[in-house]
Amino acid sequence: MLNYYYREVEEKVIMIPILDSKRQYAQIGKEIEKEVLEVLASGSYILGKHNKALQEEFANFVGSKFSLGLNSGTDALHLALRALNIGRGDEVITTAFTFVATASAIGLAGATPVFVEINEETFNIDPEKIEAAITPKTKAIIPVHLYGQPAEMDKIMEIAKRHNLRVIEDCCQAIGAQYKGQQVGTFGDFGCFSFYPTKNLGGMGDGGMITCNDETLFNRIVALRNHGGAIRYYHDELGVNSRLDEIQAAIIRVKLNYIKEWNEKRRANAYRYNEMFAKYPEIQTPKEIDDSYCVYHQYTIKIENRDEVHKLLLEKGIGAMIYYPVPLHLQKLHKELGYKVGDLPKTEKDTTLVMSLPMFPELTVEEQQTVVNTVVECLNLTKQTV
Ligand SMILES: *Cc1c(COP(=O)(O)O)cnc(C)c1O
Repeated sequence: MLNYYYREVEEKVIMIPILDSKRQYAQIGKEIEKEVLEVLASGSYILGKHNKALQEEFANFVGSKFSLGLNSGTDALHLALRALNIGRGDEVITTAFTFVATASAIGLAGATPVFVEINEETFNIDPEKIEAAITPKTKAIIPVHLYGQPAEMDKIMEIAKRHNLRVIEDCCQAIGAQYKGQQVGTFGDFGCFSFYPTKNLGGMGDGGMITCNDETLFNRIVALRNHGGAIRYYHDELGVNSRLDEIQAAIIRVKLNYIKEWNEKRRANAYRYNEMFAKYPEIQTPKEIDDSYCVYHQYTIKIENRDEVHKLLLEKGIGAMIYYPVPLHLQKLHKELGYKVGDLPKTEKDTTLVMSLPMFPELTVEEQQTVVNTVVECLNLTKQTV
């Protein structure tokens, strides 16, 4: 129902959008234009010098040995599973509180997602619940660093080690996030990143990156993304075509120089929101786990009467969003898995409470104050009508 509502509201004026990419462009557009025009004139549009350089720069930034540019974050997740020979008959443990691509990558590889409950404070997979979901068919765990907050990687890696499971990190919302001083994307066998335009490090089209520390595994990805063969026109297995195009690579290279600064600004904005909301205990602000560096891809509050508040907010021009309205175990896509309402109570409950507010580096203090005042005003309005 709210889907229809979004469309109605899009016609109206959103005063403070959830993300305003144009402000970033105003800041660095000239630099990007120069690089893009050079690529256009170069005649080298696929796997050129920018791909090569970005892969090195990206690996350096994240702290991994290897990285490879791909079509999308979804491809990174899918190819990671393929490279680990995970497919038909295998189970992969993940969370239902995420974007659908985390689980569809598992389905695309031919394997079965097994959804584990979240920690309701962090929205990430609860490590304490993982072991009960492990069966003889379990091959891997895909933790998601949702909203830019790292999952508890030490516990997850310990469980994986004990049960001889692989770990693929979904870092699509968390470039630059750290857990105990270590960047996400360097804990597991693979780290999967997205350059979808709304991500913290967004391209101007689709794109993705995979990171890895093992040369053999890395070479497997290189072959799989090139139609299953590392040598041109020789194909050993079924692969795909997945490349980061040169224009996107050139754009991401420019933006990678700013990502630390942008993540810092997001954090500052998050802490400012926290302060502004502090006198309203009925609005639950995001909690950070200890010893983490969260990069606030989203600033997500929990609130009663969420749907009504959301509707009012959109009417008043505040671009709030619900990530995500339906948990993955209850999506029609997964009906054959046999999950039912009540199977993951915390996941289901949080799905009804979460609301993400405008969050981007260029957001101003005045805009934040307007957002906070309007959220409080809308919440009070819904209370009067109850
Ligand atoms: C965006 C996203 C993806 C998919 O990335 P694409 O580049 O759009 O394919 C996967 N997982 C999560 C958590 C995401 O936010």
